[in-house]
Amino acid sequence: MNYDNHTASVDQSIVYPNLTGVTLNELVLAVEPMLYSGAFSLTNISVNGSSVTNYTLNGQRLTVPISPPLAPGGQVSLVIEYDLAVPVKQRTNTIGWLAYQTNLTDWYPFVVPYDASAGWLLHDFLPWGEHLVYEWSDYDVNLRFADPANPPMVASPALPEANGEWTRYRLNGARTFALSLSREFLVNESAVGSTVIRTYYFAGHEDAASKMTFVATQEVGLFNPKFAPYPYPVLNVVELDYNDGQEYDGLAFLSSDFFDQYNGGAKNNMTTIGVHEIAHNWWFGLVGNDQALEPWLDEAMSLYSEHIFFEYTNPELVNWWWQFRVNYFGPNGYVDMPIYDAVSFRDYTNAVYLNGATFIDDLRVRMGDDNFFKFIKDYAGQMSYRRATANDFFRIVREHTSANISDLIAAYFQNPH
Ligand SMILES: [Zn+2]
Repeated sequence: MNYDNHTASVDQSIVYPNLTGVTLNELVLAVEPMLYSGAFSLTNISVNGSSVTNYTLNGQRLTVPISPPLAPGGQVSLVIEYDLAVPVKQRTNTIGWLAYQTNLTDWYPFVVPYDASAGWLLHDFLPWGEHLVYEWSDYDVNLRFADPANPPMVASPALPEANGEWTRYRLNGARTFALSLSREFLVNESAVGSTVIRTYYFAGHEDAASKMTFVATQEVGLFNPKFAPYPYPVLNVVELDYNDGQEYDGLAFLSSDFFDQYNGGAKNNMTTIGVHEIAHNWWFGLVGNDQALEPWLDEAMSLYSEHIFFEYTNPELVNWWWQFRVNYFGPNGYVDMPIYDAVSFRDYTNAVYLNGATFIDDLRVRMGDDNFFKFIKDYAGQMSYRRATANDFFRIVREHTSANISDLIAAYFQNPH
């Protein structure tokens, strides 16, 4: 990577085991840098060691024919060589460079999940909802800089290992591998068990950053026993110029505005949204889902995880949390709305996030606390490293309650479950 020129030259190899149960004639990959003009320049693709030219790259969709076809249980290896010209960062995107920071998010081609009935799961981009669906992968990333004498600090979801002139990062069982780089980062660090917790921030935000690190340790300490053990070696919270927060495995981005607005205590966006993005490590990272067609599975669960965080760490603030995060905005709309059915960000979040959290709370009351928390833990356990659907969610709910919930489903969902 040439940090100062905002470019990278990438040799990427993918080993893809065919776990789909059907014979595959092609692989479909998402190439998100294609959404930015001039950001992605493909040089070569090889399949099992032979260069191929009959691939197609249309927008974000890269289709690579596999010949002979890949039988179930077989394995194919792809090498993709490309150059990245990192786009200038826009306020509404996480990817991009500014003078003081470069973020690499969804920066590499990845094979999208194959669903036996729906085919390759690569949905259209939409500004207010996440459109990508991910399988999990084991990542082995080697990074070096064109100017090794003056490298930026790297916020990475794996711990660095020396590897000659390279620095190696290994992250197993993750859906994304996002990086943030800056020469101006300051770092605040703690740990829960073997999980390293770091907040990367900029000067002037010292108090906010130490609070954020503390909140993250509280959260991992709480959700480890309540949900499932935190699945990665590192948990980073990274400040950036952005409107909101955004989750990646082991790396949560949080707006500089939230650090600026930090007022002491927990009644603020930094704490609520920070807890939300970190909760996505369980609901998005460990338990995957189709973010475009069933976004409530990770969003309502992450929003309700904020509630669980507050009731255990700041119980006097639970009523404040409901008003500040949910009721103020007037939750309404079907919880199982795909991102494409909404007419605006507000319309989408009021249904999927806010009414989603209200539904989960009603479900909890119906089930009782004991059954509800057994359900959450069992859901995390059964669906770890898989893609959960609403049918999985309700199947596991019903394994933990005999209560009739059909009225709740009728009130909150457009589809029967
Ligand atoms: Zn979220």
